[in-house]
Amino acid sequence: MTTTDPEHRTVIEPFKVKVMEPLPFRSRPERERVLETAGWNLFLVPAREVTFDFLTDSGTTAMSAAQWAAMMVADESYAGSRSFERFEAVVHELTGFPHVIPTHQGRAAERLVFSTLVKAGDVVPSNNHFDTTRANLEHLGATALDLVIPEGRDPRSLHPFKGNIDLARLEACCREHAGRIPLGMITITNNTGGGQPVSLANLRGAAAIYRSHGIPFVIDACRFAENAWFIKVREPGQLERTPRQIAREVFDLADAALMSGKKDGMSNIGGFIATRRSEWMPALRSLLILTEGFPTYGGLAARDLEALAVGLEEGLDERYLEYRVAVSRYMADGLVRRGMPVMQPPGGHAVYLDAREFLPHLSPAQLPAQALACELYLALGVRGCEIGSVMFGKTGPDGQLVPAALELVRLAFPRRVYTQAHCDYILEGIEGVVARKDALRGMRIVEEPPFLRHFTARFAPL
Ligand SMILES: *Cc1c(COP(=O)(O)O)cnc(C)c1O
Repeated sequence: MTTTDPEHRTVIEPFKVKVMEPLPFRSRPERERVLETAGWNLFLVPAREVTFDFLTDSGTTAMSAAQWAAMMVADESYAGSRSFERFEAVVHELTGFPHVIPTHQGRAAERLVFSTLVKAGDVVPSNNHFDTTRANLEHLGATALDLVIPEGRDPRSLHPFKGNIDLARLEACCREHAGRIPLGMITITNNTGGGQPVSLANLRGAAAIYRSHGIPFVIDACRFAENAWFIKVREPGQLERTPRQIAREVFDLADAALMSGKKDGMSNIGGFIATRRSEWMPALRSLLILTEGFPTYGGLAARDLEALAVGLEEGLDERYLEYRVAVSRYMADGLVRRGMPVMQPPGGHAVYLDAREFLPHLSPAQLPAQALACELYLALGVRGCEIGSVMFGKTGPDGQLVPAALELVRLAFPRRVYTQAHCDYILEGIEGVVARKDALRGMRIVEEPPFLRHFTARFAPL
């Protein structure tokens, strides 16, 4: 990993290990039996069978000694606990939003906000909606519109802010659907579009458009710290600012933020809604109490609030963020050097392997990204996540697959968990996968549920 530090060439893990967990190792035949049993769905594979778990960076963070210490002194009072006060103060200071509602994770924040503001027939634009965001909106009968810039759909474009929303299309959308847009969103970083950052200029532009149409602007803020780091190092004039200052300017542009604490909250569970819209609070609070918990814990233990309060600060540390972003760059460069195409430039939390380019002999209906994800597991014990036609494809009225725009396998990196030696070991193993690629077979879906099918569908090799 390369650093900007003139004295050194390596970005090191900026921490030392205090508690360790052994890695499980399995043979290829053992993994074959595991996949068979799991219906070739990596979500259904037990973690004890996985050597390197890159399924998600969500909730998989290694917590710090400071977080564990804070959990021990948590105040588990039902109402008005000290831990809530601490959590609220940290979120308030970070975002500037006066109202803070804890939730058990990000999708609970989505459900609360959407079910109080969005109705059937409404339209909600974003750069790209994350899968739970889309599913929560579609569940209400609303349309989730993706308006990312064209470069964001091109795996080879080197645009520095491929998560940007297309401002011209956003303006047109706001006119076309006037009166039917209860809120507008932007996801930072753009997870579904490859973990790509959104520039400050673009966020300012989108906020101005939403404001001019009287549409509340809600930020899906899961990776606000990584996004702030990219703004710092890539956007002209931002290098001297701290990630915290940049993040604060971003939140100042919006009416509300939805957060999964399992990402840049550096925690294993938790989330929140933060907003300046006082008029939203009565309905949000009522629904919160009905389905999540009292407003001072929102479905979490107070110790989780403590972990989040500490984690939100740690996630903004510059040494940590430099290392964090270096991980995906290091993996992406290593993969490309060995003949595995990846989406460029790499995102903050993950690298995205381009299965369509890697396996040109498979059509989208043969689910190339699912096939590649299974092969990475069989060959290396690496668990990635299909982000392609399994996750975003649709079954058309004629029963034919309407493919997704991209066929990707995401390797998402848990925070502070794996080391550079782990990365090197995986990169060596990729050479074998590249050598065998012409022999890789496609997959078909055997069984699927109506929503979020990638979690539970079962597959079979062709
Ligand atoms: C993870 C995620 C969510 C949902 O959060 P959960 O804590 O998993 O419910 C929403 N949006 C984005 C961009 C995410 O990455």
